[in-house]
Amino acid sequence: MNLNNLEKTLNPYPSFRLKQAKEAVYVNLIDNWNKASNLPKELRGALNQECPLDIKAEIIESKDKQTAKALVYFVDGFAVETVLMRHKDGRNTVCVSSQIGCPLACAFCATGEQKLTRNLSAAEITEQVILWARKLKQKNNRVDGVVFMGMGEPFLNYDEVLKAIRVLNSQEGLNIGARHISISTSGLTEGIAKLAKESLQVNLAISLHAPNNQLRAILMPINRKYNVEKVLAAVKNYIAETRRRVMVEYLMLGGLNDSEKEAQELASVLKQGLEKLFFVNLISYNSTGKFKPSTQATIDRFKLILEKEKISVVQRFRFGRDIEGACGQLKGRKMA
Ligand code: SAH
Ligand code: SF4
Repeated sequence: MNLNNLEKTLNPYPSFRLKQAKEAVYVNLIDNWNKASNLPKELRGALNQECPLDIKAEIIESKDKQTAKALVYFVDGFAVETVLMRHKDGRNTVCVSSQIGCPLACAFCATGEQKLTRNLSAAEITEQVILWARKLKQKNNRVDGVVFMGMGEPFLNYDEVLKAIRVLNSQEGLNIGARHISISTSGLTEGIAKLAKESLQVNLAISLHAPNNQLRAILMPINRKYNVEKVLAAVKNYIAETRRRVMVEYLMLGGLNDSEKEAQELASVLKQGLEKLFFVNLISYNSTGKFKPSTQATIDRFKLILEKEKISVVQRFRFGRDIEGACGQLKGRKMA
């Protein structure tokens, strides 16, 4: 699929044609322009040439059918992973990648083991959602939510991520409610400040993973630039400006950041008046070979301490472990 030339190809035509074309792609979810019967035949031919709609992807389903993972190939042969999560209540959430690789090299993350190849365009981000939307439509179903938790750091590709979100959110686009779209960041404060100013009700998630700099620096090299204090100060400004709740992501690593001491420390850095607007998401570590996951008993104890300190906390449900479709296990590759 390549929508980069859509505007250019439709330029010689009256402007309502562009509107019809977008509706065909995003609302009717067609996979070939010949199916857009309201467009003149010669235009359909030109669009098939210039803006092909077929998506090159390999899809793997998890055994329990709750999760599916796809490797989506772009025109230059590079690929990213995207995951579909089918929730028990019938909702469908898609996890998208925003970059091919990631330059931030977090110690626990499979994507971070690769360096950055390039940013994705807004169209390439949207394409990942369209893939699942088409598949779900066959069963009269739809994509209800999108999370930017796949490969890459969304705030290193801010403009294209925001452009994609506007298409996902728009009624002429995929019509996914902004409240059902979440961006996860490793804590780039400029991005957090910029997002606060957007007229969009999207959710923000912060990958904190440690309550102090000594520990966080071991896990996330980016902590040298954006340390715990700076990240939390940016989040507090964001909350003050938007009055929106922010999710704090905390990866549970056995014997490393999961003791009672760290739970207390996390509670105390999150307090300071705004604790009602933070909620902590405890994430089980999907092994990439470097660390040990915390035991369930340790996670329960950690959770209890936060609850006692009146910090909202949940443990994230694990999707797609058997297909390596879980967070931090996503790796792209180039077609041979
Ligand atoms: N770059 C952004 C968004 C992509 S990562 C970020 O770091 O927030 C999405 C989430 O998956 C982050 O919270 C990240 O810390 C988490 N993650 C990375 N590796 C993981 C692993 N091995 N197991 C579980 N979660 C992981
Ligand atoms: Fe990049 Fe996020 Fe992975 Fe860190 S956790 S390497 S920021 S994708």
